[in-house]
Amino acid sequence: MTLHFTHLTSEQREIQQAARDFARAELAPYTAQWDRDAYFEPALVQKLGELGLLGMLVPETFDGLGLDTLTYLVALEEIAVVDASVAVMVSVHNSLPTQMILRWGSDEQKERYLRPLARGEKLGAFALSEPDAGSDAAALTTQAVRDGECWVLNGTKAWVSSGTHAGVIIAMARTDRADHRRGPRGISSFIVTPDMPGFRVGKKEDKMGLRASPTVQLVFDNLRVPAANLLGEEGHGFSYAMQSLDNGRLGIAAQAIGIARAALEHSLAYAAERRQFGQAIADFEAIQFKLADMAKNVAASRALLHATAAVKDRGDPVTLPAAMSKLLASETAMSATREAVQIFGGYGYVTDYPVERLFRDAKVTEIYEGTSEIQRVVIARQLYATSGSATHVI
Ligand SMILES: Cc1cc2nc3c(=O)[nH]c(=O)nc-3n(C[C@H](O)[C@H](O)[C@H](O)COP(=O)(O)OP(=O)(O)OC[C@H]3O[C@@H](n4cnc5c(N)ncnc54)[C@H](O)[C@@H]3O)c2cc1C
Repeated sequence: MTLHFTHLTSEQREIQQAARDFARAELAPYTAQWDRDAYFEPALVQKLGELGLLGMLVPETFDGLGLDTLTYLVALEEIAVVDASVAVMVSVHNSLPTQMILRWGSDEQKERYLRPLARGEKLGAFALSEPDAGSDAAALTTQAVRDGECWVLNGTKAWVSSGTHAGVIIAMARTDRADHRRGPRGISSFIVTPDMPGFRVGKKEDKMGLRASPTVQLVFDNLRVPAANLLGEEGHGFSYAMQSLDNGRLGIAAQAIGIARAALEHSLAYAAERRQFGQAIADFEAIQFKLADMAKNVAASRALLHATAAVKDRGDPVTLPAAMSKLLASETAMSATREAVQIFGGYGYVTDYPVERLFRDAKVTEIYEGTSEIQRVVIARQLYATSGSATHVI
C-alpha cells in the first residue's frame, strides 16, 4: 500500500531512500532522548552536509545538489517522519538563508557564505520575527544605521530556529530613519555571523514540542555588520523575506506531512496489535474510520504539495498554493496526531510511545512561517488579487 501518488524518477527515489536510510540510522535511535533533553546534536550538521542534504536546492556550481523542489520535499518528508526537530533545521536552512543568498546575494557573498552553507560547514538561520512583531512582521523595530563601512544594528530578534548553532543568519532590520518611516520598504536584509562584534545569543525558549530544535532570541547590541553584508538592495529586505517564506512554507508542509505520516504508521501498527473485547482494535469500525481519514488527509496534503512543487519548478508564483499546502498539511498533522493519541488510548498519553511527541511537534506547524489564520488571509487576498472580483470561475 502506498499513499504516494506522485511519479518519482529513479534518481528521485534514490534521494528519497538516502534520506530515509539516514533518518532511520542516524536519528531514529536518538529522537526520543533528544526530545526529552531538549538537546541539539551539533554533529548532525556535518553528517547532513556530507549527504548533500544542506545544499539540496543550491546548484552544483555552488557545491549543492541542485535538486528540483519535488525531490527536496520528498527527502525532507523522510527526515520529518523520524524527527521533526531535525526537519525544521533542514527546512529553514535549505528554504530560507541559502535561497536568499542564491537569489539576491553578490558573487562575493555566494563564495563566502553560500558554498559553506551548501556543503554543511555552516548552518543557516532566518531572523525576521521579534518579541513584538510576529504575524505583523513589518512592525519590526531592530534598527540598522550606516556608520562608515559598517551597518550598526540594535534590537532583539525572536524565535530564531537553530539560532544557537547558526554560522550564517539572514536578519531583517530597519534601514529607514526614525523620522521618516517607510513601512515594509524601510526594511533591509543583512548577512550576520556570530563572530561579529555586538552579537549575542539570548533567551532559549523552553518549548512544548520540537524540543531538539533550539529556538532562541538573538540580541544585536551595536552589532557591526560590514556594508558588504547588506543582502541585495537596501529597502527590499521585507519583500525578500516574504518571497522566501513562500518557499519556506513548502518545507514546513513537508515537515507536517512527515509528522502526520508517522502518526498514521504508528497507529496502523498499534491498532493491529492492541486487543480489546477479544479482537484487534483495528477491527472496530470507529478505529478504521480514523485511520481512513488520516490516510486520506496525508494523501491529499502530499498531492497538493507536490503539485505546488511543480508550479514552482515551472517558475510560476506559488504564494497561493504554498499557503494552501502549508495550511492543509499543518491541519492534517494536528488532526492525525490527535487521532493517533486517541487510537493509542492511555498509552498515547505517555512517553513510552512516540505519538505524544508527534502531537506536541505537530502544533507548531500551525504557528510558524505564518499561522493558519495568516495562511487564510494570504489565500483570501490572492483570490481577490487574481480575479479582481469574487464572482469569476476558478
Ligand atoms: C518553534 C518556533 C520556531 C520559530 N522559528 C522562527 C524563525 O526561525 N525565524 C523567525 O523569524 N521566526 C520564527 N518563529 C516565529 C513565528 O513565525 C511566529 O511565532 C509567528 O509568525 C506568529 O507570530 P506571534 O507568535 O508573534 O503571534 P501573533 O502574531 O501575536 O499572533 C497571535 C494570534 O493572533 C492571530 N493573528 C495575528 N494577526 C492576525 C490577523 N491579521 N488576522 C487573523 N489573526 C491574526 C494569529 O494567527 C495568532 O493566532 C518561530 C516560532 C516558533 C514557535
